[in-house]
Amino acid sequence: MKRSMETTCIQGGWQPKNGEPRILPIYQSTTFKYSTSEQMGRLFDLEENGYFYTRLANPTNDAVADKIRELEGGAAAMLTSSGQAANFYAVFNICGAGDHLVCSATVYGGTSNLFVVTMKKMGVDVTLVDPDAPEEEIEKAIRPNTKCIFGESIANPALVVLDLEKFARIAHRNGIPFIVDNTFATPINCRPFEWGADIVTHSTTKYMDGHAMTVGGCIVDSGNFDWEAHADKFPGLTTPDESYHGIIYTKKFGKAAYITKATAQVMRDLGSIPSPQNSFLLNIGLETLHLRVPRHCENAQKVAEYLQSREDVAWVNYPGLENDKYHALAQKYMPNGTCGVISFGLKGGRQAAGEFMDKLKLAAIVTHVADARTCVLHPASHTHRQLSDEQLKEAGVDPSLIRLSVGIENADDIIEDIRQALED
Ligand SMILES: *Cc1c(COP(=O)(O)O)cnc(C)c1O
Repeated sequence: MKRSMETTCIQGGWQPKNGEPRILPIYQSTTFKYSTSEQMGRLFDLEENGYFYTRLANPTNDAVADKIRELEGGAAAMLTSSGQAANFYAVFNICGAGDHLVCSATVYGGTSNLFVVTMKKMGVDVTLVDPDAPEEEIEKAIRPNTKCIFGESIANPALVVLDLEKFARIAHRNGIPFIVDNTFATPINCRPFEWGADIVTHSTTKYMDGHAMTVGGCIVDSGNFDWEAHADKFPGLTTPDESYHGIIYTKKFGKAAYITKATAQVMRDLGSIPSPQNSFLLNIGLETLHLRVPRHCENAQKVAEYLQSREDVAWVNYPGLENDKYHALAQKYMPNGTCGVISFGLKGGRQAAGEFMDKLKLAAIVTHVADARTCVLHPASHTHRQLSDEQLKEAGVDPSLIRLSVGIENADDIIEDIRQALED
């Protein structure tokens, strides 16, 4: 039965059989028992489905991954212990030493650092591209050894809305997958697979958890990318894996090939698995995602309009504002709303930003975004402090930029807090 998003948020994932718990159980067990040694052997060979060790798979984690898979409309999914791990695994699964990827320059600071600094040490090269550049310009960054294109549907914190169809066309013309970090939009507002993305990642730490309780990540594969048609580029998926007795992932697992490889190889060897307890909490967050996300957007729209109306505010970025640079792209790709995060600058610049933030009472200064409580951060002094002013500009982060994550409190209370911090 095809379900709507609202129903999937509540009923997706865990499907109890007769007499089993109605609520997703926490399988707080590292290991699973079998009666014959031979059966256990078949599990290790991936010849048979079954749980044997939680680093590789756990029923609680799998149920939650399956809910997110259904929300995104994908073919297979896996959870990771953080959004960072999700993005690393998503790329590393198809990209090794000597390879190259193309990435939108405005992605989250942690992601650009992962690609530009850490993966560089592993021999993977990255080219950052201006997401608003013309198609031909971006395509020039593609090399024979390029293995994927990466971008965020809405960039954190630059709030750049990615032209998903443009990036998908470039990727597919060059026989490589397009990976989209859909953390800020969530599948409630945007489903990148419908616009040509092949793989979606999430930091579930943000809206999916929604309550700032658990750090987590997720990778979802659409199952649409034809690895075999570009077999020379992706030998890890299309030739025998000697660490699994010569299994060829595309032959044996079809649409689940990419996720099976990421689990059986990358997770097996690197081990960033979430705790089942955390996945249980994430699942509770997901049950209200469809209620919370529209409320975040509604509140953020009111707050953005208020900020824009003030004399002491220099600029406001929010794709929901009609005069925003990304309004048209937002209307196309996420017509029901974008996210609850707004960025803005005060006429007083960097200095005024600090003073304003210190006076806020309801909005807390925290290194977090996208949860139920309104919170605020100054990226130049906090999350992005490792970047120079030049790098900040490239990442679309003005040194005066205040990142305000609008929560689901009463919008008038949030606006009053901002008013008193600016005026009193
Ligand atoms: C927070 C975030 C990440 C990193 O996720 P963690 O769960 O903090 O590891 C990646 N991408 C985006 C867009 C994010 O907002």
